[in-house]
Amino acid sequence: MQRTFAIIKPDAVKKGVSGQILARIEGAGFTVRGMRMIHMSKGEAEGFYHVHSARPFFGGLTDFMSSGPCVVLCLEAPDAIKQWRDLMGATDPAKAEAGTMRKDFGASIDNNATHGSDAPETAAFELGYFFRGMEL
Ligand code: GDP
Repeated sequence: MQRTFAIIKPDAVKKGVSGQILARIEGAGFTVRGMRMIHMSKGEAEGFYHVHSARPFFGGLTDFMSSGPCVVLCLEAPDAIKQWRDLMGATDPAKAEAGTMRKDFGASIDNNATHGSDAPETAAFELGYFFRGMEL
């Protein structure tokens, strides 16, 4: 079993598709080990995305992530990191495959509905950023 970190981003919460995304997550065989709705501050979003701090889209990305509530999740499954990345689809919804979260619920590369850790080290940092050990 492996754990990964996921976010239902502010655009998807605002559109009212959190329930549909959760149903797809559970339907795909993930166990939800942690779940909370939060509204990140700009500083919390900057800390979460610190690896992108030098990128030109950093300001817009952290504005967006702190623009409204989102749902943070700890998902568990065999090979969870890759399985969730595959289910999310490509970063740009226009390039994502049919049936993926980003194709079906994302509007643009900025408003792409979901987040998922991309490696075990990233998952460890991201899970620890939002969840206390006792919660999981
Ligand atoms: P992810 O792992 O697929 O979410 O992609 P990254 O970790 O590379 O980027 C984090 C988030 O920043 C993505 O989900 C996008 O919303 C945004 N992003 C990434 N690359 C770009 C880009 O080239 N332009 C813009 N505007 N946003 C981007």
